[in-house]
Amino acid sequence: MLPIDIHTHTVASGHGTTDTIADLAKQAHKKGMTLLGVSDHGPATPGSCKESYFRSLKSAPRNRAGIPVLYGAEANILNERGALDISNEVLAGLDFCIASIHPQSFRSPAYHRSSFWDRKQVTENVEAARHYNTEAYIRAMENPHVNVIGHPDDQHYPIDCEALAEAAAKHHIIIEVNEASLAPEGYRGDTRETMRRILNACMKYRLPILLSSDSHGAVSVGEAPLAEGLVAELCYPKELILNFMSVEDFIKVLQR
Ligand SMILES: [Zn+2]
Ligand SMILES: [Zn+2]
Repeated sequence: MLPIDIHTHTVASGHGTTDTIADLAKQAHKKGMTLLGVSDHGPATPGSCKESYFRSLKSAPRNRAGIPVLYGAEANILNERGALDISNEVLAGLDFCIASIHPQSFRSPAYHRSSFWDRKQVTENVEAARHYNTEAYIRAMENPHVNVIGHPDDQHYPIDCEALAEAAAKHHIIIEVNEASLAPEGYRGDTRETMRRILNACMKYRLPILLSSDSHGAVSVGEAPLAEGLVAELCYPKELILNFMSVEDFIKVLQR
């Protein structure tokens, strides 16, 4: 179990759950977690909430059901220029921002189709795609409001793992190890080998990393056994795994 889990979704994301922030907080407290972060999808995800939801989180209670709560977002990276679907003005009012690529909202010159459901968002020019995807992540990292890159292991979006880690070191960005990616039935394909390569590159820079449940709803909050297994297998230094830090230290790293 992760004492700290900040990549979680509520009913506001528009799919996968009807649970509220309070439901997640109750469950997190029951599991003995020390900190919960909520990160609903940005407006470019079909059915998700609008910017006004994220704006209103500023006045949400800092503690719920006996556990401290951070309010963030999982913003969509929209293109190879690293544009996000939440404005900087709104991001400035949040505790953190995870930036991720999702098939429903990412448009790149390397992809000639855009339908998520028929899984056709593929390209024959893998090296061009790798260039544009890596560029998208790096440009998103240049945004001072972005703290975390979410699931960069998606097999639909090949990347240059070395360049990703180098940029993360330069911009003080945290790379995520995402439980939903590693699930055997996961819709991001077989991500294990890519995640291993990313983590090996991160280790060279002694980068702090974040394990996430990416839970849609309360049940799986704090659960990331596959992510924990992978970092253990690679002997990733425990002191660099943010989930096991004290809440105070975690927040300090997040705010760097
Ligand atoms: Zn995501
Ligand atoms: Zn997510």
